[in-house]
Amino acid sequence: MNRHKVFSITHLQKVILHVIGYFILFCLPILYSRLHLHGALQGSDHLFLTGALEFFMVLLLLTIVFWLIHLNRIVAGILMPIFYFFGAISDYFLFNFSRHIDVGAIQETLGNELALVQEFIPLALVLSVVIAFIIYYILNRYKLGKVPAIATLLFILTFSSAALVYDHVVNHLFMLRSVVQSYMPTSGFYSVGYYFLHYYWAEQEAVARTDISELYEFSMPENKANEPLIVVMVVGESLRGDMVEPNGYAINNMPKLVSTPNFISFSKAKTYTNLTREAVPLMLTRAERDNFEESLTETSIISVFKKLGFATAWIGNQGLFAGVKPTFGPIAMESDYVVNRSDLRRLSGNQITYDGYMLPFFDDFLAANSGKNIFVVFHMMGSHWEFDERYPKEYMQLMPTCRSAPGLCSKEELFNGYNNTIIYTDYFLKEIINRLDQQRAIMLYASDHGFSLMEGGFFSNATPSKPKEQMDIAMFAWASDKYLQQHRQMFADLRKKRDQDISHDHIFHSLLGCSNIKSDIIDGKLNLCE
Ligand SMILES: [Zn+2]
Repeated sequence: MNRHKVFSITHLQKVILHVIGYFILFCLPILYSRLHLHGALQGSDHLFLTGALEFFMVLLLLTIVFWLIHLNRIVAGILMPIFYFFGAISDYFLFNFSRHIDVGAIQETLGNELALVQEFIPLALVLSVVIAFIIYYILNRYKLGKVPAIATLLFILTFSSAALVYDHVVNHLFMLRSVVQSYMPTSGFYSVGYYFLHYYWAEQEAVARTDISELYEFSMPENKANEPLIVVMVVGESLRGDMVEPNGYAINNMPKLVSTPNFISFSKAKTYTNLTREAVPLMLTRAERDNFEESLTETSIISVFKKLGFATAWIGNQGLFAGVKPTFGPIAMESDYVVNRSDLRRLSGNQITYDGYMLPFFDDFLAANSGKNIFVVFHMMGSHWEFDERYPKEYMQLMPTCRSAPGLCSKEELFNGYNNTIIYTDYFLKEIINRLDQQRAIMLYASDHGFSLMEGGFFSNATPSKPKEQMDIAMFAWASDKYLQQHRQMFADLRKKRDQDISHDHIFHSLLGCSNIKSDIIDGKLNLCE
């Protein structure tokens, strides 16, 4: 390495040319897609500001990374082609599947698709890599003029400093973090690292479990209308059954759902655990309260839908409790497509992610799989404490809410915040229904457990005494007209059970039963559609 060259103009001229080239080729497409998503999530009010801030932060990031790399010619000669290579892959994913490099994309590439990829590498991918290398080669042979190089550097430094100061004051540099995590070349390393730290173990465990789809025969009679079937399971969070309007609660906190045709609430639904990480496996596997262990050794209902050719997705606004056992991580990883809280944070650029942030990912999944049978699990943040962080401002309809530690707040403040989360859940579930209204579709919702709002001095869930308000849960069902045209009797049977004692044990069997799937694994007594 030539020490004099490090701070020389020649060094700068080379670095800035790569910054401009790399930015246009691989970062602008990401910026465009992030702004598109941002508009869908938060409206277009601050779109220009967000775009400008990210624009300059990315330029600064590239300038620093490329400057450091070019300190050593050998390092630059090895790393820069690698960066262009991964940039081309990122563009390929973005343009073909409109998806960023996230957990699901890596899982797909490393896991189930790897065999396929080895046999057949898509031509478009090969082409984009070849083009990226050609551009790299050309840029590497040239350098920018002295004046443009210095002017560009000053331009980047001035505006990116302003952007960083703004981000520091307003977001405590959260935006910078999400820029590092979302833009090439750093996003590639971040995502792969994140995947191996947080999800690889869950994927390995999923593969090691006994595959129930291989233990039993499953069949699905041809449907007469030849319409694909969409089955949605919404896993709620901390929503107790006695405080929702459809069960007769005095406050109108679910106005949209109570006026939705074919919407049913189960008034006596129960859970057997007040822990999220036990409740979710109990809902999605055939394990019941007495044999919880089975939920840790066997695959879930997702594997059955997959076996039957459904496109499967896990769209969660919670993490997967990485490293904690037992948990539902391995269940989520059974799906073809996985999105969770870290993806929502990174892609939205917001630390607080509302459940509605999951909807654009649902839209993408539906569009990418149109014409296929689909099974989707949503995992909501729902009514988890802190309540005010669960809904956008316009859903703060009951005031005042609790702004400090729950023990210091009045009962009214706690109930107001809790009810606001329910009003937002009403919106969220109705948005899912709106997307399925014209399809042959059925949706089931069940909260993982209830919630104590200072009854008996308890706040939250997971208290060993398991009081009633933590064990009584909200549970709903909905079906579309097209579904009813073909399965009227099944849904009538389900409707009859709305005031019976039911529990999480019913969910596995009902999701299969209500999808008209036939198998010996289905226990008729636990199938709500029988
Ligand atoms: Zn929970």
